[in-house]
Amino acid sequence: MKGVTDPTVKKLLAKYHSISLLGKIAAVLDWDLNVNLPPKASEGRSRQSALMAELITDKWIEPGFQSLLEKALEKKSSLNPLEKALVRNLEREAKYYFKVPKEIIIEMAKTTSQAFMVWQEAKKRNQFNDFLPYLKKIIQLNRLVAEHLGFAKNPYDALLDLYEPELTAAFCQEIFQKLQPKLTSLVKKFKPNPALEKIENLVKGQLIYPRQDQEQIAHYLIKKMDYALEAGRMDVSSHPFTTELGRFDVRITTRYNERDFRESLTSAVHETGHALYEQGINPDYEGTPLGGGVSLGIHESQSRFWENQVGRSVGFLNFFTPIFQAFYQDQMAKVGSETLIKLFNQIKPGLIRVDADEVTYNLHIILRFELENALINNKLQAEDLPEAWRAKMKKYLGVVPQTDREGCLQDVHWSYGSFGYFPTYTLGNLYAAQFSVKMKREINFDELVSKGELGTILSWLRENIHQYGSLYWPKELVEKVTGEPLNPHYFLDYLEDKYTRLYS
Ligand code: MG
Repeated sequence: MKGVTDPTVKKLLAKYHSISLLGKIAAVLDWDLNVNLPPKASEGRSRQSALMAELITDKWIEPGFQSLLEKALEKKSSLNPLEKALVRNLEREAKYYFKVPKEIIIEMAKTTSQAFMVWQEAKKRNQFNDFLPYLKKIIQLNRLVAEHLGFAKNPYDALLDLYEPELTAAFCQEIFQKLQPKLTSLVKKFKPNPALEKIENLVKGQLIYPRQDQEQIAHYLIKKMDYALEAGRMDVSSHPFTTELGRFDVRITTRYNERDFRESLTSAVHETGHALYEQGINPDYEGTPLGGGVSLGIHESQSRFWENQVGRSVGFLNFFTPIFQAFYQDQMAKVGSETLIKLFNQIKPGLIRVDADEVTYNLHIILRFELENALINNKLQAEDLPEAWRAKMKKYLGVVPQTDREGCLQDVHWSYGSFGYFPTYTLGNLYAAQFSVKMKREINFDELVSKGELGTILSWLRENIHQYGSLYWPKELVEKVTGEPLNPHYFLDYLEDKYTRLYS
């Protein structure tokens, strides 16, 4: 790697290279699981994936690796900035494998592969009690992981840090306490427009929007965003996602609903936001601890920026209206841009996180954060989760699910074993708003989106964020790009301003 001269760091990089390759091979299996796998193959695949997880763990704990890393850490002060960043990221990634016993890592992999299948059934049949024993075990394993990783005050901190470097429960609490009352007052202020119900028949009634048309529009959009499709592809999966299998292989998925064209388009734009980040990273970083987006929060800032700040903006939807009209001549005969703008932008409390609007989405996250924090700290027992969920839904969103399927069984994350993941979604919204204020001072954003000219926007993101990969941690990156630490006011101002205009 260019710029690396220290012999110990060079040796570490060589060892890391195969870990990185194994990770990408495991990701191919996972992509295939989500996109192509025949139903009967799931058990076989879970054995293959478990073996990959074991091989990766073995690579990390190979004799020699830890002592090499310790040697590099000892002479940290004499390393150059690039080498320091490499060693810092290696230390962070290695911590999990060095500190958590291999038996626990394997136990977690086995438990979660079963838990995922049980959760799918339990959700379908609305049987929380079927999932309960797995959930209990996953919470217990996460507590053990936290104990082994170590923490200053709160075991949940050790888990949050796995997804977002340096993130703590106290920091989330501080930010969420500022957000929650303001979000709640926005929900009250911008009640769903009665005229909207009529408009909603366009996408929740009898009209059909053929999948082929949606595919063509989605492809048009993602090409417009400059997603390099000769180094990527778009497939279909029930939960849209992005995966990076190599510098020239960054894939996304979307999903199609023939009665509602919004799902496939917002998913395609969102996932392309993730993919553009990966495709924009300095090529020298590939296969090193600097490759890949730096954190889930920063990653989500990129996807949400494209989805919400660009895709749902008045300017872009105005630009896009003739394209919709051309494809959907029959369905949208009398539909103009104003209706489309309303369809893509409405504040309406609902039960399901993934269907939520830009405002209420974050209330769903605050609820999950508080429940996870209580579960990990033994202040809430897993059997009491459905009740606690309903109480918080009532408090924050004013709606209460009648079933656990629409309540605490709705998300896949806990069955995967992920505790500490949810807060990164809201962080993404906050980062995106703060980045975009800075961007809008430097380029003529509104004019560009209203002409559908997105190249300058992508160049700004490449220059300021993408190229760095994992060189700067989120806190440093935000300060470097915007000149100040994360500040939730940018997001709140953006929402207030946008919806005041839209509803007036
Ligand atoms: Mg995302």
